[in-house]
Amino acid sequence: MAETNPETIFDVAVIGGGPAGYTAAIRGAEYGLKVALIDASPRLGGTCLHVGCIPTKTLLFNAELWDYLKEAEEYGIRFGETGKLSLDWSAVQMRKAAVIIKHVKGLEFLMKKHRIAVIGGYARLTGPAQDGVHTVDVTASAGGVQSQVKAKNVILASGSRAKLLPGLTAGGRILTNIEILALDRVPHSLLVIGAGAVGVEFASIFRSFGAEVTILEFLPRMVPVEDEEISKELSRVFRKRGIDVNVGAKVEKVETTESCVRVSYADASGKAQAKEAETVLVAVGRAPQTEDVGVEKTRVELDRGFVKVNEWQETAEPGVYAIGDIVAGLPQLAHVGAMSGMVAMAKIAGRMYRPVRRDRIPSCTYTDPQIGSAGLTEAQAREKGHAVKVGKFPFAGNSKATIVGSHDGFVKIVSDAQYGEILGVHIIGPQATELIAEAVAVMELEGTVDELMFTIHAHPTLSEAMLDGYAAVEGLQINA
Ligand SMILES: Cc1cc2nc3c(=O)[nH]c(=O)nc-3n(C[C@H](O)[C@H](O)[C@H](O)COP(=O)(O)OP(=O)(O)OC[C@H]3O[C@@H](n4cnc5c(N)ncnc54)[C@H](O)[C@@H]3O)c2cc1C
Repeated sequence: MAETNPETIFDVAVIGGGPAGYTAAIRGAEYGLKVALIDASPRLGGTCLHVGCIPTKTLLFNAELWDYLKEAEEYGIRFGETGKLSLDWSAVQMRKAAVIIKHVKGLEFLMKKHRIAVIGGYARLTGPAQDGVHTVDVTASAGGVQSQVKAKNVILASGSRAKLLPGLTAGGRILTNIEILALDRVPHSLLVIGAGAVGVEFASIFRSFGAEVTILEFLPRMVPVEDEEISKELSRVFRKRGIDVNVGAKVEKVETTESCVRVSYADASGKAQAKEAETVLVAVGRAPQTEDVGVEKTRVELDRGFVKVNEWQETAEPGVYAIGDIVAGLPQLAHVGAMSGMVAMAKIAGRMYRPVRRDRIPSCTYTDPQIGSAGLTEAQAREKGHAVKVGKFPFAGNSKATIVGSHDGFVKIVSDAQYGEILGVHIIGPQATELIAEAVAVMELEGTVDELMFTIHAHPTLSEAMLDGYAAVEGLQINA
């Protein structure tokens, strides 16, 4: 990482090199700005690259492959008389590490290519700008040497960390996303507290690899931000896969013993229950890392630790922006963080930009079956006063789904009954996380059911389920 010349005044100093911060830094350099990117970790990439999106999706790909191989004979693939199928967990972990390293190197290359000054160290704002220049104190990661970075603008992108339940600390049998990704073997049993995206993804991965998996979710349904029918289908398929799903479960106590961890909870009817497992994953949300970055010395306003911004990502302190997981009201997703970074840089550079449209954000959950959604759920559309028309098409009627052996799930289209505008798309099933891209583009362009019913989708593809889904709004689906 670079040394800074104390005389240098950057156009922008970005604090945090996760997907929000590094994307902002690259875009700033592309606009011709002089950018410094400060990160406390030895390697760029943040939660997403090291302990989030990339390692989990790498493991999920292994899990999917493994699930296919378990059924190999159905696809006419045999392992010969002696060839026994086995899972080499250390090789799985090594591949995951190799994927991460490849991307770290890619980021390092991009930083050099764009002449971004990458500074290793922990950064804190010192207060408001003096004569239009902000000062950021940087404590070097190695050696604790203090230096200062001067910049006309500062972008805060310090990200988030896993929340734990009161009284718990991560380690031993108590895992967050960090410890679970470093396990040296697949546990016999895993109890997952919290059925948001992180919880259900790990539940799905470790079930595929053979663990007994139990889920305890406080709310009445899994993936509670999704359309209700999606939650219902995920529960159905998870139970079919042998996952013990418990919703409305209020966790009261987590005790660790020599041989297991025991979780006591009140079930949906208030009855005291307990479950035991070898390990427990706590996946109850993520807290913003804003308590030690110097915001208290500025006019930056916080809402329960999250930074309040306007549509250009500006905080209440002139010249200070916030992007990514720390922003109040933004979903904590890498692609949202990246886009918020691009918006902030465009504003700083005086270039054309559009604010992050919070109603046009694809939300993807990489379980088996996958979930991809965007826009309003059916309930939200009704609450907003729309006369709603819904179309639903099951993957059971899609020929490519038969070819890939994946018939669970459906496409659900929520449209406005009067004009046919697509208000929301909710997909659960094969490649849902890829299929949702079409839906976001459609909503961005304010597409209608009439237009989409006559948009040709190639055959045989999973995307044809989208075509049938749009047509189903008018009761005109072909394949079911
Ligand atoms: C298990 C898991 C799976 C996930 N999967 C997905 C997924 O599939 N898709 C998706 O879109 N999102 C996913 N997410 C969410 C995604 O990881 C986050 O939304 C994303 O990483 C947020 O980016 P960020 O840049 O705001 O913060 P982070 O990625 O958290 O990066 C923050 C960076 O700031 C640095 N930093 C913090 N404070 C300071 C400081 N004071 N000085 C210097 N540096 C500092 C940290 O070292 C870190 O590098 C997942 C999250 C988890 C936990």
